[in-house]
Amino acid sequence: MRKLLIVAGVVLLVGYLTATNPAWLPDWARSAASSVALPFRLAALAAKEADAELRVPVGGVRAAQVKDSWHASRPGGRLHEGQDIFARRGTPVYSATEGYVVRVGESGLGGLTVFVAGAGGRWYYYAHLDSHAPDLKVGDHVTPDTVLGYVGNTGNAAGTPPHLHFGVYTAAGAIDPLPLLADRE
Ligand SMILES: [Zn+2]
Repeated sequence: MRKLLIVAGVVLLVGYLTATNPAWLPDWARSAASSVALPFRLAALAAKEADAELRVPVGGVRAAQVKDSWHASRPGGRLHEGQDIFARRGTPVYSATEGYVVRVGESGLGGLTVFVAGAGGRWYYYAHLDSHAPDLKVGDHVTPDTVLGYVGNTGNAAGTPPHLHFGVYTAAGAIDPLPLLADRE
């Protein structure tokens, strides 16, 4: 019983500190509280309705300018599970939605990538970035105003004109983002 009370106390304290985020909290405690809280934040967001509209994640590009590349055939019999949004190298890539950064990575296929978990259990995938936004890290809360990185052609896009590969994943698999795209302003 006493142990249970201590655990409950720690959970409440972490929750309180995470919610209030006081200025005196040292950085190590802030980051510990934030990593403990992330799974709870993701669960709360997953319980919400999925976004009906996604802001075009590339600066200066309108939804009508995105040329449909959903399910285009790719080498090895693969289908293209996303949309390619072309723009000049270095154009800012914004989050299409509110959410939390769940991965800041690098792979042979996607090059420099970011995954954002959003409402309704969806995951948003941003690939072929020229660079990540400085200081972007797992656990960061993002909105459609947050820069995740910059358009490039890293990974298997090397040799193609710079573009963002934008993918949307649900528990049932990838869905086409194009019908959901809305202009940023
Ligand atoms: Zn692509």
